[in-house]
Amino acid sequence: MNRRSFAQAVGSAAVLSALSKRSPRSESGEAEAARPGRIMAVAAHPGDGLFTMGAVLAQQVERGGAAVLVNLSLGERGAPKDIPVNEYGEMQRTATEKAARLLGIDTVFLDYRDGEIPFKEESALQVCDAIREHKPDIVVTHWNGSWHKDHRNCHRIVRDAIFFAGLGTLKRSRAAHSASKIFYADNWEDANGFVVDTYIDIDPVYEKWLQACDFYPMWRGQTGFFRYNDYYSSLSVMRGCVSGFKHAVALMADESQRIQRLQFL
Ligand SMILES: [Zn+2]
Repeated sequence: MNRRSFAQAVGSAAVLSALSKRSPRSESGEAEAARPGRIMAVAAHPGDGLFTMGAVLAQQVERGGAAVLVNLSLGERGAPKDIPVNEYGEMQRTATEKAARLLGIDTVFLDYRDGEIPFKEESALQVCDAIREHKPDIVVTHWNGSWHKDHRNCHRIVRDAIFFAGLGTLKRSRAAHSASKIFYADNWEDANGFVVDTYIDIDPVYEKWLQACDFYPMWRGQTGFFRYNDYYSSLSVMRGCVSGFKHAVALMADESQRIQRLQFL
């Protein structure tokens, strides 16, 4: 396949080495836009955070940006039969802290119970406060086409949290902050209606990301039937094949980002 037909095969998807802050508006704006943005991932469970969003976070850090992972729960109900649920939750917390240290990302833990993450104003306000504290330019979270209720609720919580965070008249302990971009992660449990439009080159951080994922018993196949390691390591190879990178992560941009405001084509 030549370069032109390869580009046609990828279609209109963006192929990037990091997610930039915003669209360029001027020459100085172009330089600003080229700088990797500050990114926040919000995950229902730590495994979702590391396996589906961790490589993109690590890549932003690698390129000079900053990254934070917000975990709504510890994913403790994924415990294998021989480990008590609360003990497994602490194992998940420890794995996440080790992974974050290795990848140079910050972590936030909210204390919702796994399987009981509520979609309500209080949960959206907690994530709003995290957004106002960490000031991300870009937010990545679950797509809503999921069989898992925690994932669907996380999606809705984050949408509302971004709205609340940017609302200047909503008084919280920190000032309003508007995140300019939102993307959804490529998660085997959230595949209903997921359409890729953005590819990120993660090859520079691929090996480190695999090491970070390996802190989780779940990644190593010790908690259930699903082969997380095989699935997500292979997925990054497959996404790399179609985007022209060795390893890549695919994302779906929020529909608001597909609207272009132009004076001519
Ligand atoms: Zn999950």
